[in-house]
Amino acid sequence: MLKRTFTTVTNAAKPFKLAVVGSGPGGFYTAHRLLKEHPTTQIDMYDSLPIPHGLVRYGVAPDHPEVKNVMTTFDKVAEDERFRFLAINSQQPTLTVPELQNHYDAILFSYGASEDRRLGVPNEDVYGSTSARTFVGWYNGLPRDRDLKLPLEDTDTAVVIGQGNVALDVARILLSPIDELRKTDITEYALDALSKSRIKHVHVVGRRGPLQAAFTAKELREQLKLPGVQFHADHDWIHDQIQQNQSFLSKRRPLKRLMSLLDQKPATTHNNDKSWNLKFLRSPVEILTNSDASAVAGIRYEVNRLEGPVEKQRAVGTGEYETQECGLVLRSIGYKSLAMDGLPFDNNQGLVPNVYGKIIDSEQTELPGMYTSGWLKRGPTGVIVSTMSDAYETADTILNDLRQDVPMLSTNPNRLSEDDLMQLMYRRDICPVSYSDWKLIEAAEFNAGSLLGKPREKFATVDEMLNILNRRS
Ligand SMILES: Cc1cc2nc3c(=O)[nH]c(=O)nc-3n(C[C@H](O)[C@H](O)[C@H](O)COP(=O)(O)OP(=O)(O)OC[C@H]3O[C@@H](n4cnc5c(N)ncnc54)[C@H](O)[C@@H]3O)c2cc1C
Repeated sequence: MLKRTFTTVTNAAKPFKLAVVGSGPGGFYTAHRLLKEHPTTQIDMYDSLPIPHGLVRYGVAPDHPEVKNVMTTFDKVAEDERFRFLAINSQQPTLTVPELQNHYDAILFSYGASEDRRLGVPNEDVYGSTSARTFVGWYNGLPRDRDLKLPLEDTDTAVVIGQGNVALDVARILLSPIDELRKTDITEYALDALSKSRIKHVHVVGRRGPLQAAFTAKELREQLKLPGVQFHADHDWIHDQIQQNQSFLSKRRPLKRLMSLLDQKPATTHNNDKSWNLKFLRSPVEILTNSDASAVAGIRYEVNRLEGPVEKQRAVGTGEYETQECGLVLRSIGYKSLAMDGLPFDNNQGLVPNVYGKIIDSEQTELPGMYTSGWLKRGPTGVIVSTMSDAYETADTILNDLRQDVPMLSTNPNRLSEDDLMQLMYRRDICPVSYSDWKLIEAAEFNAGSLLGKPREKFATVDEMLNILNRRS
C-alpha cells in the first residue's frame, strides 16, 4: 500500500498538487525543477511499470553505465518529502485522465514514445525481423520483450536498418566480445543467448549518405574500436562526399568531426573474423524469407541517389535493386507515442500538441492545468540531456502559470480528496509500488548481480519484481 503520506508543507500557501504520468527523464527533470523552484509543489509520479526511469533503464546500452548516472539525480528528487512514486503496473486497472483531473491541480504527461516506426515492407513480422528497440528491451530486461526469440544461432549476418545511435548500439552489442558484456548489467538470459550467437557480420544501412548519418562521433569511435571487427564501407565514395561538401561542413563542427572519423580508411587486419559495414543509399523494399516463409533469409533494397542541395538532400530510388542474404533484420528508424484517452493527440506528428509544454486542443486553445514533457512533447528525438532542457522548459511554463495565477484543474467543486483517491485505488485493488519499494527491488538486483560479478542483474518480469515485495500482480 502507499508508504508515504505528504508532510505538511511549511509554506502556509495552498499546495500545488501535480500528477506526473511517466517516470522517465521527461517526468523526473520537470519534477526536479518544480520541487526546487516552488515550495508548495506536491508531486505524485505514476508509471505503468513497477519501476521508474523509463529508457534510462530500458534503452541505454548496458556497456554505457556512465549514461545511467542520471538515476542518482532522480533518486534525489524522489527523496523529497513532497514527492511520491505510484507505479501502477499495466497489469492492474489504472486511473483515467478524468479521475486524475478530478484530484490534481495539474497533470504532466511524460509517458514517452513506446511504439516503433515500421518499414511498411512485405514480411516485416516474419521470425528474425523485429525492431532494434525490441532487441534493446530484450537485452535490457524490459518485461514486454523478455520472451523475444531471435535466430542468433541460425545466421552469421544481421542487417540493421537506420543509422542513428541506437543502430550502432545494437550493432555493437551483436559484435562485442562476450567477456566485455559479462561485466555489464545486461540480463543473464541475453548474455547466454549472445554467447551462443553465430553473428559475425553486421550491415548498418541508411537511405541517404554519410552527411545524413544520425549517429554521433562518440558512438562511431566506439564502433571503430571494437576488437576483432573489421570496418567496411565505400571509402572512396565517402571521401568524395566529404570533399564535395567542405563549405557545408565547415559551419557544422560536430558533423565535421564525425566525417573526419569516417574519412579514415581502416587498416585491414587478418585477425578480424568479424565485420561491420556502413551501407548508404539503400531503401529496404522487402524482407526475403526462406522456402516455407517461416524466417528471414535476406533483404531486398532499392538503390538510391541523392537529390537536392546538401541541406535537404533527398533519397530518390533509381529503379535498380539488390538483395543481400541475412538471417536477422533489426529496424531502427524511429519511434512513436501512443494516444491516451482524454488527451489531445496529433497523429501526424505522433505527439501531444503543446505550446512550450502546455497542452492545446485542436482549436489551439490551451487546456488549463494540462502539460507535457519529454518525447511525448517534442517527438521521439534527442538524448537525455536534450530531454532535460526540454523538461525544464515545461517546468518554467508551469511556474509561470503559477506565478500569474492562471486557472488550473482545481476549479471543479466535486474534487476527489486524498482519501477519495486512496479509496478509489483500494476499490480497484490497485496497489501501487512506491519509490522505497523500488529501492528494495533495486537492492535485490544489486545482490543478484554481485553473485554473478556484474553491477546488477535486472528482474525482467513484473512477477519477479513484485515477489521481492511479497506481492503478486
Ligand atoms: C534504445 C534507446 C537507447 C537510448 N540510449 C541513450 C543513451 O545512451 N544516451 C542518451 O542520452 N539518450 C539515449 N536515448 C534517448 C533517451 O532515452 C530519451 O531521450 C529519454 O529517455 C526520453 O525521456 P521520456 O521521459 O520522454 O521517455 P521515457 O524514458 O520512455 O519514459 C517514459 C516513461 O513513461 C512510462 N509510461 C509509458 N506509458 C505509460 C502510461 N500509459 N502510464 C504511465 N506511465 C507510462 C514508461 O514506463 C516510462 O517509464 C535512448 C533511447 C532509446 C530508444
